[in-house]
Amino acid sequence: MDDLTTEQRHVNMSHIQSKNTKPEMIVRKYLFSKGFRYRVNDKRYPGHPDIVLPKYKTVIFINGCFWHQHPNCKYASIPKTNKEYWIPKLQKNVERDKLNYKKLSKLGWNVIVIWECELKKMDNIKVLQQTLYKICGK
Ligand SMILES: [Zn+2]
Repeated sequence: MDDLTTEQRHVNMSHIQSKNTKPEMIVRKYLFSKGFRYRVNDKRYPGHPDIVLPKYKTVIFINGCFWHQHPNCKYASIPKTNKEYWIPKLQKNVERDKLNYKKLSKLGWNVIVIWECELKKMDNIKVLQQTLYKICGK
């Protein structure tokens, strides 16, 4: 029997979610430590980028490998069952991504995509440093 009240469950859930292990948090913390200031969850832009750096006219997407189909990534493999459901669904995501990146580029934004698996690695500092370089050339 699960005797947690809804309230308690909510507290537990928010505790779990507030752990700073979320991929976006790794990137945000890193950028913040380097003195960058950014906006998050800004819905004004195509595709709703995870991080917006207005000063550098840069947007960052932190993409889940499965949902956004990271090419040649082991986390992006399509489930063997229900392929006729998954393939068009995932393909649609990829097409939508491409279209959003194109729209953003046309509006003059520098678009950076970081894959979740790159952040899970122990040496994720490399991808963070590369990101920094893409933002400001340093
Ligand atoms: Zn991946």
